[in-house]
Amino acid sequence: MKFCQGTECHMHKTKDRLKGMKGSKTYQTRRRSDFYYGNGNFCSTWCQEQWFSKFGNRAIDHFGRVTAAKHLTEQNAWSKQIDWDSSYQNRSYIYRNGITKEQRPLTKEQYTDSNYTLNTGE
Ligand SMILES: [Zn+2]
Repeated sequence: MKFCQGTECHMHKTKDRLKGMKGSKTYQTRRRSDFYYGNGNFCSTWCQEQWFSKFGNRAIDHFGRVTAAKHLTEQNAWSKQIDWDSSYQNRSYIYRNGITKEQRPLTKEQYTDSNYTLNTGE
């Protein structure tokens, strides 16, 4: 079980957040085995936005602020995609270049590996 990382999750007065012994219940941060938002860290987009409005600038400065336009080129135009067959029964994983339209097959492992890329340069 993990807690929602929303800085003000407990401020939302919903029935499922009201926990504790009878007579001393408090609204508490949501706790679940997993969440749908923000890579599994937030119970809602509201909590995700609250977190970002408080910490977003610091996070961007920490990981590197974009200070110049990036350019889409043949070298960085590869994107991973799922290709369904006409019956939508079978899927395959492909890498497609957004400029040359070239396609290359991917294994499922390569598709899910966030470090695997054909892109060279930003
Ligand atoms: Zn939350």
